[in-house]
Amino acid sequence: MRYRSTRGGPETDLVSVVMQGLADDGGLFVPDALPHFEPEWIKGETLAEIAAELLHPFFSGSPLEAELRAICDDALDFPVPLRRLQDAPDPLAVLEVFHGPTAAFKDVGARFLAAVMERALPLLGGDARPLTILVATSGDTGGAVAAAFHGRAQLRVGVLFPKGQVSQRQQHQLTCWGGNVRSFEIEGSFDDCQALAKAALTDPVLSRRYRFSSANSINLGRLLPQVAFHAASSLWHWREHGLATSHIVPTGNLGNGLACIWARAMGMPMREIVLAVNSNVTIPEYLATGDWRPRPSVQTLASAMDVGNPSNMERLFQMLPDFGELRATVQAFPVDDAAIRAQIGQDDERFGQVWCPHTATGFHVYDQLPEARRAGRPWIVCATAHPAKFESITEAVTGHAVPVPETLQELLERPAEHIILGADVDALAAELDRWDSAAA
Ligand SMILES: *Cc1c(COP(=O)(O)O)cnc(C)c1O
Repeated sequence: MRYRSTRGGPETDLVSVVMQGLADDGGLFVPDALPHFEPEWIKGETLAEIAAELLHPFFSGSPLEAELRAICDDALDFPVPLRRLQDAPDPLAVLEVFHGPTAAFKDVGARFLAAVMERALPLLGGDARPLTILVATSGDTGGAVAAAFHGRAQLRVGVLFPKGQVSQRQQHQLTCWGGNVRSFEIEGSFDDCQALAKAALTDPVLSRRYRFSSANSINLGRLLPQVAFHAASSLWHWREHGLATSHIVPTGNLGNGLACIWARAMGMPMREIVLAVNSNVTIPEYLATGDWRPRPSVQTLASAMDVGNPSNMERLFQMLPDFGELRATVQAFPVDDAAIRAQIGQDDERFGQVWCPHTATGFHVYDQLPEARRAGRPWIVCATAHPAKFESITEAVTGHAVPVPETLQELLERPAEHIILGADVDALAAELDRWDSAAA
């Protein structure tokens, strides 16, 4: 499989695509063509087995081809259950993609990317320096990336997070690693953290001294395993009931949504795909009007979906340049904070289930669908985070606590440590130097 930028340019191979993240022209990497499967062709049962079959064409011809099965086993080693909600009047299931180390959907992509990078690095040869991943985070991504890369050979992670702007539990997940992970509390905003990471990655002196990479959500190495879990959920259901599934996908940067769209385009037994977004309405507005108007993000309860300029839209535009065709492929509906709260309360009473705010957008969209589209038709709502990660929101609505999952509890009990830094590239450079001398 060959790849190129959404903006054109030369062909590239999988290893470069993953190590580089973003194309030189600022575009996003996409495969020349999506592979096609008939559902019967896929024999695997677990997510890791299905991922190894489904993603094989993406790895074919790459030096990593023979490693794909090991990458899937390594990265996708936690349960991703598809649970039927017995109390729902129509066939409704929840796909829980939040049983990874940091209890959110980002573990899937981050772990796969880390497993690929660890195996790609020795292939690049010659350079004995470790790969330094700099990740700016407003909370969730940094924890997932730190957890995924922790303890991996020749890789290290610098996490940059804004002072006083992440929750206590989030901060703990960003700072409890040690070893090959260092956490920097930046005296500034999330935008300052991003600008600082970018300044370091593009600084001519620093980028020669260190071997940098990033772990952005637009990296194809994060998107591919997300395709696999949507595909697996439809296959599991189809094998048991012989029916194609429809999917509701909470999304912000369109990483989760696009992955589901790719899974269906690759031949999975899926019918409708409906995106749930929060009050960042760029995508639903576009689908309603044909006007693409990216804008600054607004803060919502479903904070990991606060994206006003969804980057993966560029991949969808490249795949479906015709607006009519695009609009026939996917729908999207916005859900505001009041509706998120109401949904959390209602489903706690109705199903005895507490959703995180992101997942609640999905169930709200399901409830708004016309009855005829739900009756007798199986729907799957993707649940993207464990509610215990957002306990201040869920407890205020439901009046009760949700038990903290064991994996998250273990993290919260680890000792934490971080370094405070000004939003200044020289200060960061000095810390990177100290890190090197400590390692030497
Ligand atoms: C990141 C995230 C999302 C949205 O993912 P996109 O890639 O932006 O579509 C949804 N829910 C949670 C909990 C997340 O962390």
